[in-house]
Amino acid sequence: MLEKLEKQAQSCTKCPLCATRTNTVFFDGSSNAKIMLIGEAPGADEDALGKPFVGRAGKLLNEFLKMADIDRQKDLYITNTIKCRPPKNRKPEPAEKAACEHFLKEQIKAINPKVIILCGATAAESFFDKKFQITKIRGEIFDNVKGYEGIKFVPILHPSYLLRKHSQDEGSPRDLTLKDLKMIKKTALL
Ligand code: SF4
Repeated sequence: MLEKLEKQAQSCTKCPLCATRTNTVFFDGSSNAKIMLIGEAPGADEDALGKPFVGRAGKLLNEFLKMADIDRQKDLYITNTIKCRPPKNRKPEPAEKAACEHFLKEQIKAINPKVIILCGATAAESFFDKKFQITKIRGEIFDNVKGYEGIKFVPILHPSYLLRKHSQDEGSPRDLTLKDLKMIKKTALL
C-alpha cells in the first residue's frame, strides 16, 4: 500500500510544487517502525536526493538520534507534511498542505506508530488547532489529537534551529532535544 502511495506522490500534480520539484520526498527508515518523525518539507538536498533529512539539519538529527540510541533506519519512519520542495525553502502554503494531507494521513494509518515526533513548529501546526510556541510545548506528550486517538504526539525543536544554537549546557535547546528523544524512545518501548 505504501509503495502504491509513493508512486502516486511521484506523479502527483495536485499543487503547484510539482512544477519545481526534482524528486518527491516520500520517506526514509522502516515501515515497521514504532516511531514516526514528521518534518516540515523537503529542502534542496532532500529534493536532489529524494530522501528526507539528508542535508545539514538531517546530519545533526542523525547525531542526536545516535546519542539517544535510536536507529534511524530501523526505529523510525521519517516523512514531511508535504512531499515536494517549496521554492527557496519557504514554509508550505496552507493550500499545499491541504492538497498533500491525504498522503500523510495514509502514511500514519499504514505505519500506525506508537509515537509521532512533530519536528518543528510547522509540523506541529498541522495537528494542533491552538496557537502555541514550539519552545513551550516541546517534550510534552499529546495523546488526544483528534482523529489519531491512541497515538502519542511529541513536538521537538527542529534540527535547523539547533544548528544556530551550539550550547550543550543543561537546559539549552540541544540538551532539551536530547532529553526529549530519550524520553520518546522509552515511551515507544523500543
Ligand atoms: S507537495 Fe504533495 S500535493 Fe503537492 S505536488 Fe507534491 S505530492 Fe502533490
